[in-house]
Amino acid sequence: MGLKEELNVILQEAGKEVKKIKDKKLFDEIRVKFLGKKGELKNILGKLGSLSVEEKKEIGQLANEVKDKIQEMIDEASERIEKQERSARLKKGVGDISVSRDIPPIGYYHPLTVVLERMIGVFKNMGFTVEEGPELEEEYYNFDALNIPWYHPARDDHDSFYISKGKLMRTHTSPMQARIMEKRKPPLAVVVPGRCFRRDAVDATHGHTFYQMEGFVVDKHITFADLKGTLLTWAKMMFGPQTQIRMRPDYFPFTEPSGEVGVTCPVCGGKLCPVCKHTGWIEIGGCGMIDPEVLKNVGYDPENVSGFAFGMGLERIAMTVYGIRDIRYFMENDMRLLEQFVK
Ligand SMILES: [Zn+2]
Repeated sequence: MGLKEELNVILQEAGKEVKKIKDKKLFDEIRVKFLGKKGELKNILGKLGSLSVEEKKEIGQLANEVKDKIQEMIDEASERIEKQERSARLKKGVGDISVSRDIPPIGYYHPLTVVLERMIGVFKNMGFTVEEGPELEEEYYNFDALNIPWYHPARDDHDSFYISKGKLMRTHTSPMQARIMEKRKPPLAVVVPGRCFRRDAVDATHGHTFYQMEGFVVDKHITFADLKGTLLTWAKMMFGPQTQIRMRPDYFPFTEPSGEVGVTCPVCGGKLCPVCKHTGWIEIGGCGMIDPEVLKNVGYDPENVSGFAFGMGLERIAMTVYGIRDIRYFMENDMRLLEQFVK
């Protein structure tokens, strides 16, 4: 048998074997057998040495054609089998079950976020708008505009992180009272949640970073009764309809008169428990009528408009709602704590 015939036989054999294949993995074996380094085509080419130049050329060309045809047959068959496998999978009604899928664990809301969103919901229902302000604040808005000039002793209560001259991390959310009133005319009803910073020593009830929610209302004829009604409504919506509030005299430079606000302990309902330190009451913040000096600073006429303001500590409220005893837990991001607040 001449080399030409041998090449034809190889082509036919390869054709037969490719047709038989049902498993993709076997294509490699065929490729090696016919086209590999020690395969049948290479074997033929090894015999070219004894031929004339003309014959070498002719057989070499034919060998190349046979090689291309075999490769083509393998490619076609492999594609056909892949299609069959895919349609079989689809008929079964499943996707590609060979792909493994790791489902990530479910995330949790931080308890402060949960309380903050509840607070915002309650105040929005009462007609308040929600605003945010800068954490890096100007000394003017943090103190001076709020009736706390540089010589005022109240500045001692606000141990501050100064970043540069005249700029500090805000020590409360109250600067936003001045910023908002300066830009707009009454009537105003706004709450401002946000992070505040003080150089306090950290213990179970104090942090250097904490959340406040500021709220204020300014309009004609706003009185202390409006303040009381607003806070009572908030407390009932937040802690339940049986909740009562109490207000006791306090002092803040930017409100006159000023008070501290307490709610009946939502944990024991006034029957005394460790959360309320056996008093039946929980202090949640400060409040008062906006001082006329503050109104003047933003260009309002205190003879014409009046307003009230309040500030609440979100950690304090969250600690009460969830019975968390140590304020430091909020900053530690311990999953064992956070996992308990799936929303
Ligand atoms: Zn209690």
